[in-house]
Amino acid sequence: MKDCLFCKIARGEIPSRKAYEDDEVYAFHDIHPQAPTHVLVIPRRHVASLDDTSETDQAWLGRTMLAVRTVARELGISSGYRVVTNCGTPAGQTVFHIHFHLLGGRPLGWPPG
Ligand code: AMP
Ligand code: ZN
Repeated sequence: MKDCLFCKIARGEIPSRKAYEDDEVYAFHDIHPQAPTHVLVIPRRHVASLDDTSETDQAWLGRTMLAVRTVARELGISSGYRVVTNCGTPAGQTVFHIHFHLLGGRPLGWPPG
């Protein structure tokens, strides 16, 4: 999508601190980290949110989640981390290109805000 911030980041048109990439997935460090490790894992394809997916999206959704696991391992936080997707404005979504927050490196309280 032409004007989407995260599409531009995935295409390299806006700089980011890359954590991982493959053909389908791009991951980069959040610009306002909420934990010592805070990475955003996104599919390269533009999909606005989890609510905009359907059964036909199982393959890339699964691969994106496996990429989250890979990033957690590569960044050394696989003993404890959280994966969050904010879906919709009331849940705090501000960028409407689906993304999975990978948070770790400190104890994480529950419930989240
Ligand atoms: P959300 O509020 O769930 O939509 O998450 C959007 C996230 O994107 C926030 O945590 C922001 O800090 C992060 N963010 C926004 N712009 C950038 C950027 N240019 N580079 C890295 N992270 C960003
Ligand atoms: Zn996009």
